[in-house]
Amino acid sequence: MSVVTKSFSVKTKGDTDIIDITAQVGDALKEAQLLNGILTVFVPGSTAGITTTEYEPGLLADLPAFFEKLIPKGDDYHHNLTWGDGNGYAHVRAALVKSFFTVPFVNGEMILGTWQQIILIDFDNRRRQRQIVVQMIGE
Ligand code: ZN
Repeated sequence: MSVVTKSFSVKTKGDTDIIDITAQVGDALKEAQLLNGILTVFVPGSTAGITTTEYEPGLLADLPAFFEKLIPKGDDYHHNLTWGDGNGYAHVRAALVKSFFTVPFVNGEMILGTWQQIILIDFDNRRRQRQIVVQMIGE
């Protein structure tokens, strides 16, 4: 059993930018040379989330619309009074999505559905460079 940790960086536009990171996670798994186990994809930071969806234009419009309905950007947030950085909505959205996604791998391949991609959603109100950590536990 070994533990291998890799990372890569992603430039985002912020503002609920949704980025497909499946290929980079797959590369990390290949580099780790592990066949069977489980991996966690994690984004350090409290205004971005990692989850999964079918990466297609309809959902790339549906997801931001859903977040805007549930946690509107223009609402009043106590966080904005604390720091004045205006991204209270981004923290609340990120808390809902969570900062990690876990997937098993078998024979060196992640067990993902055909229409299931791993996505980074950057909710922050500015462009960011995000470091993504992939930690693999297996053999
Ligand atoms: Zn903030």
